Amino acid sequence: MALTLQTFPTSDAAAAALAADGAARYLGGGTLVVRDANEGDVTFSSYIRTTDPALSAVTVTGGRAKLGASVTMGRIIADERLECLTKAAHSVGGPAIRNMATVGGNLFAPAPYGDLGVALLALDAAVEIGGASVPLARFLKERDTAHARSVVKSISFALPNTDAFRFIKVSRIKPKGVSVITIAAVLEESGGAITSARIAYGCMADRPIRATAAEGALVGKPRTAEGIRDALKVASEGTDPITDAIASAWYRTQVLPVHLGRLLLA
Ligand SMILES: Cc1cc2nc3c(=O)[nH]c(=O)nc-3n(C[C@H](O)[C@H](O)[C@H](O)COP(=O)(O)OP(=O)(O)OC[C@H]3O[C@@H](n4cnc5c(N)ncnc54)[C@H](O)[C@@H]3O)c2cc1C
Repeated sequence: MALTLQTFPTSDAAAAALAADGAARYLGGGTLVVRDANEGDVTFSSYIRTTDPALSAVTVTGGRAKLGASVTMGRIIADERLECLTKAAHSVGGPAIRNMATVGGNLFAPAPYGDLGVALLALDAAVEIGGASVPLARFLKERDTAHARSVVKSISFALPNTDAFRFIKVSRIKPKGVSVITIAAVLEESGGAITSARIAYGCMADRPIRATAAEGALVGKPRTAEGIRDALKVASEGTDPITDAIASAWYRTQVLPVHLGRLLLA
C-alpha cells in the first residue's frame, strides 16, 4: 500500500490535519512509526509532519528547560545545559537511533521503550499539547485516548539541583540493549533526611509510571540502608510490569528493589 507524506509549515496546521484524518499518523523521527509501516501496519496510510522551527528549539531560562518535541536524543547529549538528561538520552538505542529519535516520540513509545520519558516523569515535566500545558503523568495516562490525535509541541521542566537527579537503565545487552527496568529519581535532602522524592519507573507498566508508595516511604528518612528499607518493601506497589523477550514480569518485580536500592544509595 502506498503511503503519502504531508509536510506542514506549522505544528498547528499539522495538528489540524492529523485531527481531520483518521488514517494519518504523525511522523516524528520515524524510528517507530516507519518500522510499523515496514512491518505491514495498515491502520494508517499517510504520515503528517511539520517543519515548524519551534519544535526543534531548546531554551533554558530561569532554571527551566523547554525542549521542542522534535529535539533529538543526539541534540540533548550535545547540549551541556541539559546535562541532567544526558544519561537518559544516551541510553536510547545506538547512535543512528539517537540521531533520529525525538523527545515527542519517546513520550508515545510503548515499554520497553520510553527511557527519556522515565527521566522526564521524575523531573515532573509538563507537556504542551492542544493549546494546554498538561502534567506528564496525566499525559502518559491519556496518550492513547485524549491525546492520540494531537501534536505534542514541547516538554518543559525545572532543572534539578546538582546531585538531586539519579537515573539508571538496567539492560542485558551493553551498550544499547532495551531496558529490563529503568528508574529515575529526584531526591531533595536537608538536615540528613529526604525532604521530597519523585521516582519514576520504566517497564514496570506499559508506559512510564510514578512510584508513589516508595516516594511516600522515603520522605523524612535518612538516605541510608536502614532509611530506605520501607521504600524498598513497597517498591512494586501499583506496578504491572511487562513481560517480553528480555525479562518476565515476575523477574522485573524481583529485581526492582535491588536496583532501586542501588540507585537511592549511590
Ligand atoms: C533499534 C531501536 C532501538 C531503540 N532503542 C530504544 C531505547 O533504548 N530506548 C527508548 O526509549 N526507545 C528506543 N527505541 C524507540 C524509539 O527510537 C524512541 O522511543 C524514540 O524516541 C521515538 O521517537 P521518534 O521521533 O522516532 O518516534 P516516531 O516513530 O516518529 O513516532 C512514535 C509515535 O509517537 C507519535 N509522535 C511522535 N512525535 C509526536 C509528536 N510531536 N506529537 C504527537 N505524536 C507524536 C507518532 O505518531 C507515533 O505514534 C528504539 C527503536 C529502535 C528501532
